[in-house]
Order: sequence, then C-alpha cells, then structure tokens
Amino acid sequence: MSETLTDLVGLDRESLANLLEPHGLKGYRIGQIWQQIYRLGALNFDSMTTIAKSARQGLAEKFFVGRLEIESSQTSKDGTRKWLFRLHDGSLVETVFIPETDRGTLCVSSQVGCTLNCQFCHTGTQRLVRNLSSQEILAQILTAKDELEDWPAPRPDRKLTNIVLMGMGEPLYNFDNVKQAMLIALDPEGLGFSRRRITLSTAGVVPMIVRAGEEIGVNLAISLHATNDDIRDKIVPINKKYPLTELLNACRAYPTLNNARRITFEYVMLKDVNDKDEHAYALADMLKDIPAKINLIPFNPWPGAVFERSTKDRIHRFAGILMNAGYPSPVRTPRGEDILAACGQLKSATEKVRRARPGVSAA
Ligand code: SAH
Repeated sequence: MSETLTDLVGLDRESLANLLEPHGLKGYRIGQIWQQIYRLGALNFDSMTTIAKSARQGLAEKFFVGRLEIESSQTSKDGTRKWLFRLHDGSLVETVFIPETDRGTLCVSSQVGCTLNCQFCHTGTQRLVRNLSSQEILAQILTAKDELEDWPAPRPDRKLTNIVLMGMGEPLYNFDNVKQAMLIALDPEGLGFSRRRITLSTAGVVPMIVRAGEEIGVNLAISLHATNDDIRDKIVPINKKYPLTELLNACRAYPTLNNARRITFEYVMLKDVNDKDEHAYALADMLKDIPAKINLIPFNPWPGAVFERSTKDRIHRFAGILMNAGYPSPVRTPRGEDILAACGQLKSATEKVRRARPGVSAA
C-alpha cells in the first residue's frame, strides 16, 4: 500500500464515480467495481475480469482496495475471534466476531480509544483518541470477512450476519464517518446488510440520536446502566451533559419506533451499584412508554477495574422482576472472556506495553 495510491474502500458511489471517470469507467462500470469490492471481496484489480485489462492496469497504478493490517488475532475456546488491527498511523483498534447458532455478529470499533470515560469500561482508560475514517470502519468488516472466508457477501449461509457498533469508541461522536460506512454496508449491491441486522450503540449523545435514526436508520441500543441521574452521573459521565430525562425523550422520538423494532437498553450489572430490586422496578417503570428490550450484561472485569460483577442470583432476581413487568430481558453470556474480548474489554495490551516503554509514544 503505497502512500501515493488512493484507497477505494469507504468512498460513497459518487466519489467513486468521480475518481474512476478519468479511467474511462462510468455508468454500470461503477456498479461493477462496487460489486467486486463489496460483494465479492476483491483484494486487487487483477481479479476484476469484467473490466478490460488495460483499464485494470491503469486502476492499479492509482488505487488500491484497502484492508487493515492484522497486528495479532486470537480465538477463544468458545469460538469468539478477536483481531487487533494496526492503522496507518500506528494506532491500534480491536474488532470481535461472536459466532452463535443462529447468527454471527461482528463488534466494530468507531474510534481509537474513547472520550467518555465510563467507569466500568476498559476502553475509557486509553489515552489516545481519534475518530476512525469510514475506510477504517468498513475495512474492519472486509478484513473480518476475509479471515472468516465469508465471500461473496450476501450468501444465505453467510457467517457474518450482524454488525454491532459496540467496539471501541462512541459512534455518535464520529457521526459522519459512521454514517458513510454504514450506508455502504447497507447497500444492496454490495455487503447488503439489512437495517435490522445493524445496531448502533450509544452512551447517550442526545442531539445525534434522532438524526442517526433518520439518516442511518439502523437499530438503536442505549447504554443505560442506571435508573437515576445520581448513579448514572458517576458511572456514565456523559449523563451530566445529557441527563436521563433528555435521553429518554430522544429515545421516544427515535424514528420507526414500534413494537416490532424496539430499542435495546443495555444494563451492565455492577455489584452493589445498580443491581438492587428497587433499580429493577425503577427500570421497568422508566421504560414503560418506550418499545424496549433490556440486555443485562454481567460486568466483565479487567485488570484495575474497581467494580465487581453482580452475583448470579442477583442477576436472575433482577431479570425476573423485569420479565414480570413484561420486558424481554435476556442475560448476555459473556463471550470470549479468555481472550479479553467481552463487552467493554477491548483495549489492546500491546498499546500498554508500548506506552510503558520510556521514550516510546503511544501515537
Ligand atoms: N460508546 C458506545 C459503544 C461502546 S460500548 C456505548 O457506550 O454504547 C458497548 C457496550 O459495552 C456498552 O453498553 C458498554 O456500556 C458496555 N460495556 C463497557 N464496558 C463493559 C464491561 N466492563 N462489562 C460489561 N459491559 C461493558
């Protein structure tokens, strides 16, 4: 990948068309290249045999089809896979694939690090923060599909069926790039994901929530984690800026909301912090006029975390109260724990090692 070549991944169709026109490619030819990249997973122009050989050579002199460099990868005993990707500036991000019987979900990062500082989240302890480009967001999906040998894209038996923007970073603080990447992922001529199979998770960037619904239109998940502002201010500090009342109002205004398409509320179970019966009753009450499902996530500990996971009994009692109140509230089984790939644990050990070396910058 030379500095002088331009990556075609992550460009919308119009930009792609503008770049390719000087090479004599326009009209349906643009669609063909799009399909080669996003439907067939082409890694270079040689394989694009629908394009004349001379044109392909011209393209190869100017462009490339980007992937991410794999710094390392791990497979959990439960089949979960985690990749640590090295970006062109040396920063590192993680992406996780979680296979289940009826689906395969890719947990995608939207930023290097995160500015939100949620107290229970490992990513918040990472200093370096920058937005990922639309190319870097999409290339996580493309590289994972290469690794899973999951091309062509829209096969009925595809391995990667769902995308969740629940990796590192806050997607609504990187709205434009996330939007562009997701619109490309949704494009029926390419990756062809349906809107119901992509979920955007936010800690509550209230002014962007309705816009996300209108302009991206995927499922929404809210990292709620508390039922009153006192507790939420402490564990999800963005709550001080956008308190619960505002957050829930934005959820009520989320477009296409009905019972078939509920908002997921994520609730991390922290021992003696937010896991009492009274919290479960309050949770059921506060969501009663929103089509909601609740995901209870047992806290995933990481080295240095000050919280503990709620006990099994506590989590079941909590889930029971919600169930009685009419909420589907599955308890998420932590996946990939042995490779630190579970929710909120994404933060590369490599980065820490590099930082610990004197004179070596984390950037
Ligand atoms: N910034 C976005 C997306 C990233 S976090 C958001 O906040 O939604 C993805 C989910 O993992 C969030 O619900 C987050 O609260 C949860 N999470 C973070 N750390 C966790 C941990 N240690 N254990 C369990 N869940 C955690």
